[in-house]
Amino acid sequence: MIYESTRGAAAHLGFADVTLKGLAEDGGLYLPRSWPTLEADRIRAMRGLPYPELAFRILSCFTGNDIPGDTLARLTREAYARFDHGAIAPLKQLDTSLYVMELFHGPTLAFKDFALQFLGHLFNHLLGERGETCTIVGATSGDTGSAAIEAVRGLEAVRLYMLHPQGKVSEVQRRQMTSVLDENIHNLAVDGTFDDCQNLVKAMFNDAGFRARHNLSAVNSINWARITAQVVYYFRAALELGAPDRPVNFSVPTGNFGNVLAGYVASRMGLPINRLIIGSNSNDILTRFFESGRMEQQGVSPTLSPSMDIQISSNFERYLYELLDRDAGRIRGLMEEFARNGRFQIAGDELARARELFAAHRLDDGATSAEIGRVYRNSGEVMDPHSVIGVAAAREHGEPGIPTVVLGTAHPAKFADAVETACGVSVPLPPSLKHIMEGEERLRPVTNSLDAVRRLIDRATRRTPD
Ligand SMILES: *Cc1c(COP(=O)(O)O)cnc(C)c1O
Repeated sequence: MIYESTRGAAAHLGFADVTLKGLAEDGGLYLPRSWPTLEADRIRAMRGLPYPELAFRILSCFTGNDIPGDTLARLTREAYARFDHGAIAPLKQLDTSLYVMELFHGPTLAFKDFALQFLGHLFNHLLGERGETCTIVGATSGDTGSAAIEAVRGLEAVRLYMLHPQGKVSEVQRRQMTSVLDENIHNLAVDGTFDDCQNLVKAMFNDAGFRARHNLSAVNSINWARITAQVVYYFRAALELGAPDRPVNFSVPTGNFGNVLAGYVASRMGLPINRLIIGSNSNDILTRFFESGRMEQQGVSPTLSPSMDIQISSNFERYLYELLDRDAGRIRGLMEEFARNGRFQIAGDELARARELFAAHRLDDGATSAEIGRVYRNSGEVMDPHSVIGVAAAREHGEPGIPTVVLGTAHPAKFADAVETACGVSVPLPPSLKHIMEGEERLRPVTNSLDAVRRLIDRATRRTPD
């Protein structure tokens, strides 16, 4: 399988190189040159498979010759071994024709585990094969750090330095990170803000010497391998509801366009998806785009669904490339315009084409709270403020007679305060997380200084500047 960049000026690469590189050298994102497709018979034959086996069948459509079959089978078994539900991604009915797929039974109780647990093992394998190691540096305001930590803990070829602003993350979030005592995991508590942490990470990537001597890497949401791992649960849900013989809608709470892009890929592969519904909070750049054809950056405001508080949808470029018939020159132009002016606009007929498959809906915090209460009264299900935006979007844009699956992206216990305020139910942490509140913690305080952080990482890895 050959991959090309959305900006048309980077080398074509295979799956392994695309995974390790992340971003293409021309600033674009990698996509397969042509989509692998599955005949209806092959899709039908996937009904009832254990999740890791289904993941193996889907992922092998993208890995080409870069990963031997038995290795890929092992990687998918390892990736989903730490989930605490036998179904991995259980599907529950909420109402007539309305379902939720719970994607929060992984180690950090959020859907990112589906991609990151796989990506960690994949990185370790690819690096090991090349006799290399890498250092991952990241910054977190509390929510995403633990998913990366759980993804790479204990792996031989990967070290992780996760920066968080000292005293500015909740106790549960901190303990989810600092209770991990594996030697390759380093939590740095920076005397500063989340922006300071992000700036430190950026500065480390911009230091060519530092980047080279540590083989610096990131596991951010534009990594193509993450998208492929997310395609799997679209197949799972649709198969349960009768695919390929019956169409299905998906309603996806999204900010970066990562999760819903995986649904688009599933539809290109031949899964009969009737509609992809996007749910946003009041940071609604995507919803505004699907209403107007204009992509326009505005300020970010904090909401009850912080994992969707984004300003730019980093994975959208992949879909735009498809929508504009893979015209890399035009993508380059639009992205330059966006970087310069914070906005771009597509033509009316292009927007009409996008709206044949996509619909979008926004929900502010008041309506989100009300929806949590409404779902609880109607079905007894307690939902988190991200997932429930998908329910409201589904009600707005679903069609009678076609089942709609909402992707449940976080366990309600992760957002217990908002949930209790909305529906009066106090959700305890699941047993798998209770132990972190008592056990030992490990973290290193560090001053907000590039020199201090660089020196700490150089010393810890015994690599010094030449
Ligand atoms: C990351 C995240 C999202 C948004 O995912 P995208 O990659 O923007 O699609 C939604 N909900 C939760 C709970 C998340 O952690």
